Amino acid sequence: MPPRTPITVLALGGNAILQRNQEGTFEEQYENVRSTATQIATLVDQGLRIVIVHGNGPQIGATVIRHEMGREKVPPLPLHACGAETQGFLGYIIQQSLQDELSKRRTNKSVATIVTQVLVEPNDPAFRNPSKPIGPFYTKEQRDGLLRSRSDLVVKEDSGRGYRRLVPSPDPKAVIENEAIRVLVDEESVVIACGGGGIPVIRQGSRLQGVEAVIDKDLAAERLATSIHAENLVILTDVDGVYINYGKRDQQLLSKISRDELEEYAKEGFFAIGSMGPKVEAAIRFLRNGGKRSVIANLGDLGRAIKGSTGTQVRN
Ligand code: ADP
Ligand code: MG
Repeated sequence: MPPRTPITVLALGGNAILQRNQEGTFEEQYENVRSTATQIATLVDQGLRIVIVHGNGPQIGATVIRHEMGREKVPPLPLHACGAETQGFLGYIIQQSLQDELSKRRTNKSVATIVTQVLVEPNDPAFRNPSKPIGPFYTKEQRDGLLRSRSDLVVKEDSGRGYRRLVPSPDPKAVIENEAIRVLVDEESVVIACGGGGIPVIRQGSRLQGVEAVIDKDLAAERLATSIHAENLVILTDVDGVYINYGKRDQQLLSKISRDELEEYAKEGFFAIGSMGPKVEAAIRFLRNGGKRSVIANLGDLGRAIKGSTGTQVRN
């Protein structure tokens, strides 16, 4: 048998699905996904084995609003079930767009979305300190009403814009469906998995149970890439790569860099928590856990980022 082509895990940033200035209609999201799918299909057509991870920030926010606002008519579902809904919806449009692009190119590879659970630790310190704002803004009265029916929720003032729910963002430990994903990738299917960072679950005896949390999609992408022995982890976002002194006059793009050097910059606090921080952390962990190359680059430069000629290219 010929040697297998290396596996690349692509983590798509929020801008692959919704631009910051857009409202979030189905058509907007569909159009954005289609242009990303065109780029990905070219790589698949060249023979690359690809697994796609995507974000779901705005989408899970909208889903929670739908559930909360409709509560007089139908009971709202818990956050982990909302996460599953977004994986299905976004998986569907990514899958359909890719299938269309691949059939244009007469490529006979199949595309499948896996509803993915990601294991977290029940004693993760994040559960004691919910930090990620999610869903609708509430007035004080709405907040009081909500807390009467759900005393477990944490709802805090959000910079003068009203009250908002905060949820924990625990560290991902393992991808429950990794074996199924590996089998599909081995059979040359393109897989969409760990959408939105995966559905957070904990182990309770012999059972898995969804928890009210969200997982960072870049850190989840690392867990997946490591567990299926991918060679490349490519994180695509809306900046050209990792900068030091980002946003300042002397900002500088890190182009080719070693893991050790990137780790030094991370320790010095150059990368913002919640945006570039987790990308850098995912890139470092992947290399530490046996990966060959981590890339952080602009979504529009996907082809060149994979060739190694743009973005931040990190190696051991
Ligand atoms: P995504 O949806 O792709 O995960 P994020 O907003 O989480 O997007 O992360 C990308 C953002 O990180 C960029 O738009 C940029 O504003 C921000 N950022 C923070 N620190 C840095 C840095 N040091 N270098 C580059 N971008 C940074
Ligand atoms: Mg992000």
